[in-house]
Amino acid sequence: MLNGKVALVTGSTSGIGLGVARALAAQNANIVLNGFGDAGEIEALRKGLEDEFKIRAIYIAADVSKPDDINAMIGKATSDLGGVDILVNNAGIQHVAPIQNFPPDRWDAIIAINLSSAFHAVRATLPQMLDRNWGRIINIASAHGLVASVQKVGYVAAKHGLVGLTKVVALETAKSGVTCNAICPGWVLTPLVQKQIDARAANEGVSVDDAKIELLAEKQPSLEFVTPEQIGALSVFLCSEAASQIRGAELSIDGGWTAQ
Ligand code: NAD
Repeated sequence: MLNGKVALVTGSTSGIGLGVARALAAQNANIVLNGFGDAGEIEALRKGLEDEFKIRAIYIAADVSKPDDINAMIGKATSDLGGVDILVNNAGIQHVAPIQNFPPDRWDAIIAINLSSAFHAVRATLPQMLDRNWGRIINIASAHGLVASVQKVGYVAAKHGLVGLTKVVALETAKSGVTCNAICPGWVLTPLVQKQIDARAANEGVSVDDAKIELLAEKQPSLEFVTPEQIGALSVFLCSEAASQIRGAELSIDGGWTAQ
């Protein structure tokens, strides 16, 4: 379905971003991987995508907290692969603490990585999408883009901001072939969430398995994790013709979290 298209997924060396990159590659899109990690493991991921899906995959090591890195990444993706047709703003970090103890440097980092990076990436990519009159911008927000939880002031503020950014970009592109939407996942068992489960187990003196069940029971009525593959499949749908009038939407995929 996405033959000849190029998809850039920020933070795709792990978790949800990797699941989205794999799902787009399975539809024949060429892929730009980005994110941190061990160089050998990242090269294995990159080559694995090329071998499994018979597409081109490149890796660009931009730090998306830095606007100059983002601009250079979009430039390199465009020169190496011919353009960026699908932009998935996925890179994100978390920090958990009550506001009076929330380190200002964590606030700044979360706002830069989870919110401002999307502004810089869209700004740098949208002109070429509008020139071709086709593009898909998918922002990986969160249930925390729609509702709040305690101890996550930076994350909740950034994700609510990302949902707002999504709506503005959708309106500004409404008469074009470019769409912009937000996916709002509930709990997905990735390294970002595993850290929160481990911290919970340590704080409460319970087993990691019990902490996992407690974490789900508190927010996610299905009591099951959302998977990166399911978020990948939703991203593929958003890239389809059938989704061309889905614009500015906040698409929950959260086991019922925000239905409560
Ligand atoms: P993860 O920790 O598994 O992956 C995060 C990715 O972002 C990694 O590839 C990491 O290297 C990359 N990254 C981090 N900082 C970066 C930077 N400065 N520059 C470039 N890349 C950077 O986390 P995940 O759970 O897969 O999260 C992916 C996105 O999904 C995040 O935006 C997160 O907020 C969102 N999300 C996650 C969940 C969940 O339950 N896991 C739920 C809702 C939303």
